[in-house]
Amino acid sequence: MLAQRTALVTGAASGIGRAIALAYARAGARVVVSDLDTAGGAQTVALVREAGGDAIFVAADVASPEANQALVARAVEHYGALHVACNNAGIGGDLAPTADYPVEAWQKVIAVNLSGVFYGMRAQIPALLAAGGGAIVNVASILGAVGFANAPAYTAAKHGVLGLTKAAALEYGAQGVRVNAVGPAFIHTPMIERLEQDPATNAALVAMHPIGRLGRPEEVAELVLWLSSPAASFVTGSYYPVDGGFLAR
Ligand code: NAP
Repeated sequence: MLAQRTALVTGAASGIGRAIALAYARAGARVVVSDLDTAGGAQTVALVREAGGDAIFVAADVASPEANQALVARAVEHYGALHVACNNAGIGGDLAPTADYPVEAWQKVIAVNLSGVFYGMRAQIPALLAAGGGAIVNVASILGAVGFANAPAYTAAKHGVLGLTKAAALEYGAQGVRVNAVGPAFIHTPMIERLEQDPATNAALVAMHPIGRLGRPEEVAELVLWLSSPAASFVTGSYYPVDGGFLAR
């Protein structure tokens, strides 16, 4: 599906990003694993190699425009070209109602979850164009489509990711670059471990998903892989939930 292709994944030291890196590798891509967490990133690279794949780790903070440029430059230098990018790195941020939301927490969530995707695409698009085309998948959330009390920054950032996705899709579609976003509901990863530990909160989270459970990182990775591949050649500018029915209510 992705043979002879190079794919970059941010936030790939953990959770959904690691599952995406492994799915890309299984599909034959050479994978650039990126994250702030160097130990976790090295583990992802080891898992890819154990499965017979080819990967390198490049540390980068997605909230830095320069780091995104350096990350793409390193990918192109090492593998010769970049064809696929998944902007997955993200943080949960504080939980508080809007009037009480700390300004610093707002700025941090916007910097990573929204500006990080903009800086990422800004660096990736020229490389994809130079490769003759490619695909970008931005990891938004169900909270890119609906609100969630006590998560104003996260909700706003993820809604913003959908807007960025649409704008870039319009700009570069005719030049062979497809841009889509995915919207996971609650997925078992370190990001939500704290919530899952409290039985009442966990039960409330499960009840939000008509399918009767939370999702697995691999279930998000399947959708990201498809959107990244030539199988999705007529798909751009859209948002695809992977949410166990969360948004059907
Ligand atoms: P995760 O397990 O916490 O993994 C996120 C990874 O991103 C971590 O390795 C983290 O490193 C890294 N990261 C954080 N800030 C970064 C930065 N500034 N630059 C580079 N890397 C950074 O979370 P996840 O659940 O897999 O989340 C992945 C994406 O899915 C996020 O965009 C999240 O918003 C989205 N999502 C998750 C869920 C869910 O329920 N899990 C639902 C919807 C959407 P550190 O550990 O060092 O911080």
